[in-house]
Amino acid sequence: MNVQNNTVKKLLEKYREIALLNEIISTLHWDLNVNLPRKGSEQRSHQITYLTSLITDKWIDPEIKFLLDECNSIEKLTQEEKAIVRNLNRAAKFYFQVPKKLILEQSEITSRAFVIWSEAKVNNDFKSFEPILSKIVDLTRSVADYLGYKENPYDALLDLYEPDLTAAQCRTIFEKVQPSLTQLLQKVIKSKSYNKANPLLDSQKEYALDLQKKLCDFISTKLHYSYDEGRLDISSHPFTTTLGRHDVRITTRYDRHDFKEALYSTIHEIGHALYELGIDKHYSGTPLEGGVSLGIHESQSRFWENQVGRSREFVSYIEPILSTLFQTEFQNVDQDMILRYVNDVRQSYIRTEADEVTYGLHIILRFQIENDLMNKKIQTKNLPEVWNVMMKKYIGVVPPTDREGVLQDVHWSMGSIGYFPTYLLGNLYAAQFTASMKKKISFEKTIAKGDLLPILNWLRTNVHTHGSMLFPKDLIKQVTGEALNADYYLEYLQKKYSTIYNL
Ligand code: MG
Repeated sequence: MNVQNNTVKKLLEKYREIALLNEIISTLHWDLNVNLPRKGSEQRSHQITYLTSLITDKWIDPEIKFLLDECNSIEKLTQEEKAIVRNLNRAAKFYFQVPKKLILEQSEITSRAFVIWSEAKVNNDFKSFEPILSKIVDLTRSVADYLGYKENPYDALLDLYEPDLTAAQCRTIFEKVQPSLTQLLQKVIKSKSYNKANPLLDSQKEYALDLQKKLCDFISTKLHYSYDEGRLDISSHPFTTTLGRHDVRITTRYDRHDFKEALYSTIHEIGHALYELGIDKHYSGTPLEGGVSLGIHESQSRFWENQVGRSREFVSYIEPILSTLFQTEFQNVDQDMILRYVNDVRQSYIRTEADEVTYGLHIILRFQIENDLMNKKIQTKNLPEVWNVMMKKYIGVVPPTDREGVLQDVHWSMGSIGYFPTYLLGNLYAAQFTASMKKKISFEKTIAKGDLLPILNWLRTNVHTHGSMLFPKDLIKQVTGEALNADYYLEYLQKKYSTIYNL
């Protein structure tokens, strides 16, 4: 890494302490989600809160501000120095501009809100969650005001997760995607092949958990995710976390009646882990470490999960493995049945269970609601109704309860407003990366042979290694030669589902 400037070097020393504290917090979070006994959670939350406030203090240290101000006035910096200063300016902005009182108030309210939301969801009682949600929305709007924006408070929030993306750009992309997805969904459910008999859809089947674990271990090896630099554990919501430069761990969850749950969660999380592990190791402990944005991160997980994992070629590659592991369950099952099973399209209520056709619609609905909330066009008390109207319009179904509707996601209770769009952006980036990759690699053949290294190497060289050097819009331009273009995703879905459902 080319860092010559002494002021930048001093900043890096300051940042290294913050990076270490963040790794320690990640370790505590990993343990919390994987191992923690139920009664240990209260003390764990004190430990995490303490470290979080230490980090806040390190950011607001006047020395950091002084050094950053100095760097901002230096004209001659190397590319890497410039990126370091840019990323530090961005990260520090939150701590410099948002008063500590507000940060603490937000953290206090969201930790209470999480409990209230969990109970409201169990009891299907939106009214009990609404007052605190309304408070969170107001606080988030204040955060946006402190961060500053040109047109729309939502811009300031989006920017926290996807640098430089505005609500207007997002809306333009999503308004193009939504009608295509809704039309494709209609075509699929009206097709003659829809719901064709498939023994895998029999929900009484059982897939032994030790065999499912074997399948996941096999997948880790195949995707070159090594347990020398990671682990595979179980948690209620699968996730990936970086604990150190050679320690990126994933979790999965098993459903004894549905082998695809663990299989595709594992592939998804491995995609995130491979990205983190593929970043130039010189960037570790610096502001260039880690994936550049949530959208690019999600592009890596969705790439492996969908572009690779749900392809006909991958299914043909793992079919013999599945039928050897699950001999009884895979009797009279052919490749086409597996392919249709793992690409089963449903007018589902639940985002996390959604297929590739409906997934984007769930996200667009959330984006519109968040944007309208931030701009005071709607009020939290009307959310269940607004939600159901959009569900009907986009997906054609209305959830029978708020539990399966507006209460389903944890994000708003945590104050994560502006996060959802990155899930769909990830799918769009992934399709565009794949189109570029196909110009260099015979993608389908490589997957059919089960030899995934050329694909991984392409991603390492073109995407992973850069870490947070290039912003998403520069990265996509450098890799694919053009700005983000939703056509790649729409064409990919059209083509894929036309073959599966004979459209
Ligand atoms: Mg993910």
